[in-house]
Amino acid sequence: MQERRVLSIQSHVVRGYVGNKSAVFPLQVLGFEVDSINSVQFSNHTGYAHWKGQVLTAEELNVLYEGIKLNNVHHYDYILTGYSRDTSFLETVVDIIKELKKANPGLVYVCDPVLGDQGAMYVPENLLPVYKNKVVPLADILTPNQFEAELLTGRTIRTAADAVQVMDLLHDMGPETVVLTSTDLLSKHGDQFLVALGSQKIKKADGTRVSQKIWMDIPKVDAVFVGTGDLFAAMLLAWTHHHPADLKTACEKTASVMHHVIQRTIAYANEMAGPGKRPSPAQLELRMVQSKADIENPATVVRAELL
Ligand code: ADP
Ligand code: PLP
Ligand code: ZN
Repeated sequence: MQERRVLSIQSHVVRGYVGNKSAVFPLQVLGFEVDSINSVQFSNHTGYAHWKGQVLTAEELNVLYEGIKLNNVHHYDYILTGYSRDTSFLETVVDIIKELKKANPGLVYVCDPVLGDQGAMYVPENLLPVYKNKVVPLADILTPNQFEAELLTGRTIRTAADAVQVMDLLHDMGPETVVLTSTDLLSKHGDQFLVALGSQKIKKADGTRVSQKIWMDIPKVDAVFVGTGDLFAAMLLAWTHHHPADLKTACEKTASVMHHVIQRTIAYANEMAGPGKRPSPAQLELRMVQSKADIENPATVVRAELL
């Protein structure tokens, strides 16, 4: 089998699973070679009571990239990016992606445009125009949540038709594949489910373009998980690699991995917390290593419907 190499530019944490800690192990388990650049090195994610650590500057990122380039090993099949807090860092990432796409025109850029959630931005506002004008146009696969998709397009999502329109607007900005990882749309199974949607534009042999749109109802667990967005993007990279023109299957596999990992995590967290107690952020860290078999071969437990 041909080797597939991913460059992943994301956070590192000493304890727990966000950013590269959420992406590298599962991608390696699935056979990808992963080169990782740690955009920050923190003790733990920022949802804990305390966190400490270092931030990689744009210049330091460039130095690492220069080293890779000098050795002529800057040949990648995929680039994966997530959380960034700084415009000059993000602009340097953009420059690197442009060069890597020149080195390999077939390179696929998987972008999680991390801006915020539930109506609040948790990165500085000046990142939004950089994402809109420079990052999203380079992305091949985009994984915003509802709020991020709304910020990027300037449209509000209230209905399924709105969501479809927003995904088409995001296609117009660049990416051929868009997945809204979580929305507030009402599931037909009730409020114990969250709704995710996806859209893929496929070029047919005769040159015409069709789009496949999918809807998923995902069983909701009453807890706040961190690092799930990062794991979702990594698994979508892996499963779209195996099913490049079948978003339905890629999303079913991705959402099924999420389900297995989250079920194992909440069972463990509840046991650690004890009866009637809410688990702490430390107890809710994803059970990643323990989920190795599910990551390698996920039983399909979440189904997607074609829209
Ligand atoms: P983002 O950080 O981009 O908003 P989330 O972490 O909310 O993304 O969601 C990414 C995926 O993680 C969802 O599509 C779902 O599969 C899973 N997920 C996250 N939180 C939950 C939850 N509380 N219950 C069930 N699944 C969840
Ligand atoms: N990176 C760091 C350092 C974080 O603290 C967080 C969340 O707190 C994340 C990334 C993103 O996590 P998620 O995948 O849940 O969006
Ligand atoms: Zn996210």
